[in-house]
Amino acid sequence: MTTLNSITGSAGSLSQFDPQALPVSAAQAIVLQWVTPLAQSERVPLRDALARVLARDVISPIDVPAHDNSAMDGYAFDGASLLANANINTAASTPDSAALTLSVAGKAFAGHPYTGAIAAGACVRIMTGAPMPAGCDTVVPQERVERSGGAAGEERAAEAVIETITFRADAVRPGANRRRKGEDLARGNAALRAGRVLRASDIGLMASLGLVDVAVKRRLRVAFFSTGDELRSPGEPLDAGCIYDSNRYTLGAMLQRLNIEPVDLGRVRDDPESLAATLKAAAESADVVLTSGGVSVGEADFTRTQLQTLGDVSFWGLAMRPGRPLAFGRIWSGGQPGAGRAALLFGLPGNPVATMVAFYQIVRPALIAMSGATPQPVPLFPARCDAPIKKRPGRTEFQRGIAERDAQGQWHVAPTGSQSSGALSTMSEANCFIVLAHESADLDAGDAVDIMLFDGLV
Ligand code: AMP
Ligand code: MG
Repeated sequence: MTTLNSITGSAGSLSQFDPQALPVSAAQAIVLQWVTPLAQSERVPLRDALARVLARDVISPIDVPAHDNSAMDGYAFDGASLLANANINTAASTPDSAALTLSVAGKAFAGHPYTGAIAAGACVRIMTGAPMPAGCDTVVPQERVERSGGAAGEERAAEAVIETITFRADAVRPGANRRRKGEDLARGNAALRAGRVLRASDIGLMASLGLVDVAVKRRLRVAFFSTGDELRSPGEPLDAGCIYDSNRYTLGAMLQRLNIEPVDLGRVRDDPESLAATLKAAAESADVVLTSGGVSVGEADFTRTQLQTLGDVSFWGLAMRPGRPLAFGRIWSGGQPGAGRAALLFGLPGNPVATMVAFYQIVRPALIAMSGATPQPVPLFPARCDAPIKKRPGRTEFQRGIAERDAQGQWHVAPTGSQSSGALSTMSEANCFIVLAHESADLDAGDAVDIMLFDGLV
């Protein structure tokens, strides 16, 4: 069996890295090697499909739109008559004043096509979305025509000739203002690819194909718990020397954001038996297990012993701040490697900001890949840093920042006051991470930095 230590230790190309100073990119790459995407899928109604991962390509069963149709309210006609008219008028002294007069043969509304014949020199009153009548390929918008004669008003009843319209031949080009059959989605083509995390537009797009449900991957199940004798749960009295357990709530919320099924296993005392029992239960019930606390130096010893007994786990010192200590590997529900069900394990540091940074940088891409989706790099944007920053080369830093755009459209960012990895308020205050690359050094005020915004639109 290939063990994690053989990948991160002496064997393989990753052996160039010291596990106690593992660059973030190397840790991300190792973790992704250990991820197997979920195989199971289920069908869900479109309304429940938002943020789910598409299990199979969606092949369009129809053309969308199903017929050529008008993009404007106006008059549909055969665009060839424009050319004919233009030719006639090239002999005239002012060709741009060439006018075309057409008789209106009837009306076409969305959902009510015009099915009659159209003689040469005739057109059809047409509304946006109405099918183009046979023989018509061009729509002149109603604002560009002069109408004369015929019935007043906009009654729907088709009349043989209700009026005539006149417009300049250069008011419109042949083929203009017509949406082609299948131009949005052609029948038989893949409308959406497997592995896509479904967005609002995708839900609408599948509805436009007439689909009522869709095959998605089952939701990933992630169990999590907090460790630490000092922890109390909200609602309990805060004993002397204790703190409230916030990580379990942050983790639960971050998992919810990824539409993952959370399994909250509570908090566990710093004692080997409780830890072993909870880890085994977690491996039994979940695809992935997240712990917080107990992996920093000094604390790691009994955690290390337990994790190494139950599975194949490495202890890393990431070249990252915050979020240096991390345990990563696999644990088995049967209490030893190969026994029972296996789950991927991430042992996150206890400091609340470190927990979050480690989750976003290391765990999140792995959960996305396991969910069956393709993790995309989170975009970085350049901004001017308004304050100097002390930074040692050799580790990636994720400072909490407040970014805003000035009147000239330039993005600026300022670090939140404290950068303590224990101060969760800095995450709430911030709207971005200031990402200081592995090799970067001290920055002066006004230098360019990369920011990773917390909020997205769609
Ligand atoms: P540890 O990684 O267990 O050494 O914890 C590092 C720091 O994070 C300590 O100050 C802990 O009290 C704190 N901490 C650990 N777990 C949590 C938690 N679940 N919620 C809030 N703070 C925590
Ligand atoms: Mg602890």
